[in-house]
Amino acid sequence: MRPIVLSGFMATGKTTVGRKLAARVGASFVDTDDEIARASGKRIADLWRDEGEAAFRRREAVLVERLLKDPGKVVIAFGGGTVTTRTVRHAAIDRALVVTLTAAPETIVSRVGELLPDRPNLAVGTDPVARARELLESRADAYAECHLTLATDGVDSDAIVDAIVAFAERAPIAVPLGRRTYTIEIINDSPSTLTDAVARLAPSSLVVVTDAHVQRDRHAYLLAALAPLAVPHVTVTLAAGEEQKNLASVATIWDAALGGGIDREALIVAFGGGVIGDLAGFAASTLLRGIRTLVAPTTLLAMVDASVGGKTGFDHPTGKNLIGSFHQPCGVVADLSHLSTLPQRERVSGLAEIVKIALTSDASLLETLEAHAERIARGDPQALAPIVRRAIEAKVQVVRDDERETGRRAILNLGHTIGHALEAHGNYRTLLHGEAVALGTVAELGAGAQLGLTPGPLVERTREILARLGLPSRPSRAAVAASWSFVAADKKRTLTRVHVPVVTGPGEARLERIELDSLRDAVLAALA
Ligand code: NAD
Repeated sequence: MRPIVLSGFMATGKTTVGRKLAARVGASFVDTDDEIARASGKRIADLWRDEGEAAFRRREAVLVERLLKDPGKVVIAFGGGTVTTRTVRHAAIDRALVVTLTAAPETIVSRVGELLPDRPNLAVGTDPVARARELLESRADAYAECHLTLATDGVDSDAIVDAIVAFAERAPIAVPLGRRTYTIEIINDSPSTLTDAVARLAPSSLVVVTDAHVQRDRHAYLLAALAPLAVPHVTVTLAAGEEQKNLASVATIWDAALGGGIDREALIVAFGGGVIGDLAGFAASTLLRGIRTLVAPTTLLAMVDASVGGKTGFDHPTGKNLIGSFHQPCGVVADLSHLSTLPQRERVSGLAEIVKIALTSDASLLETLEAHAERIARGDPQALAPIVRRAIEAKVQVVRDDERETGRRAILNLGHTIGHALEAHGNYRTLLHGEAVALGTVAELGAGAQLGLTPGPLVERTREILARLGLPSRPSRAAVAASWSFVAADKKRTLTRVHVPVVTGPGEARLERIELDSLRDAVLAALA
């Protein structure tokens, strides 16, 4: 069991809930304030007065780091301001289940009662309710970066413990982006998890966007998930395939949503692969200047890549994904059971994005792919489930530090500069997206080796892994040369140079600006 962290403002019930929760799950309980007071032999108020807040936060950081490494089961109640330190907050979100408890400022002040003088941060000024409100607002982004937020006003602590235990079983992954933080739940054949995720968002209405194949094969699942919800909904079923990723499809979603009378509390549910996720996300980002999206990916590619990180958009005759927006979903529910009806070629195509994530940011994931390639290629659920989780976790780490791709996130475009060109050159009919990415990855790694940036043996190793996974691994020199005009139109280009990720070792990548002509020469030399 991962540690469970209870975070939130003072007097939101962290200690009461924490003790009960620890007893329920058979864990030890640590309150960081109590532990610091015990270890220092001083009251917290005295420590603040004598050492100042910064010194206190350093003590907290050291303690939290130690607690998160503790191999035993532990429930940790954070101090009210512990999560204001970014490194501590992110360490907790990576290694624990973080639950934020909330309460109204009035509730907080009445719970603190006579102990107000012992709360140095709240006892500033003459109006503690106003001070509580001010602190809550200034910390709102930090508190929101958690797996689950639970209001405690008037709620019995046992009910809160029940909710935490139920949520912990699903082991969600959080994408920490301030108040736009969301969770990714990876489950197996559980339509009710999708039902719950929609219900938690309390939408006024639903616009379900899907495609004809998904509708044909996953209809019963969708019905089971939506039936318990008493929310009006319209369903938009688009034709399937990358050729549909265009403005006309976006307009179909706009029309259905507006025709259905949506308001700003409406929710778009993207139920399909990466094409549906990108189209539905883009439509959501523009409808009424932005409504919420919940993504239920049904392909492997969409689970590990397309539904994480908020990139949305559609293709233009000039090139792929040239029109789009960043619009983070407010939840992702990835049910592995969808893969049971996904055609083998589509499933294997998704593995290319996992190889890409491993090559750029997770060397041990690359080793796992290598060790179990044949089982993974067959779609063995036991082999697939852990790599789906690890690929998502690795992508989340990159996205949270560079949401808008102004820097490091662009390493995840490995294989896409040439991959997109190959896809566009084939009119999106010959290659699946993942297949194009696999070929693009080999070509771009080869170019990196030609330029002396990528170790030569890694190119061969990658080619072998891709082939064992059932992916194409030998890009045709002629096809790459013929598709070059699309590379020149790539959105990662500035004037004559293009920003490309170069892999400098397994799991290590950086960005390089390379002259288009030099890149072309290096790619073609690698494929000679
Ligand atoms: P896709 O959405 O076209 O789905 C592939 C095919 O599988 C379709 O025919 C679909 O109808 C069918 N299908 C989907 N789920 C099924 C299921 N469970 N059972 C049976 N059939 C099913 O393609 P994809 O590979 O999921 O996604 C590729 C797209 O994702 C590309 O357009 C790519 O640009 C985009 N993408 C986006 C991001 C991002 O960050 N937004 C990242 C990677 C890829």
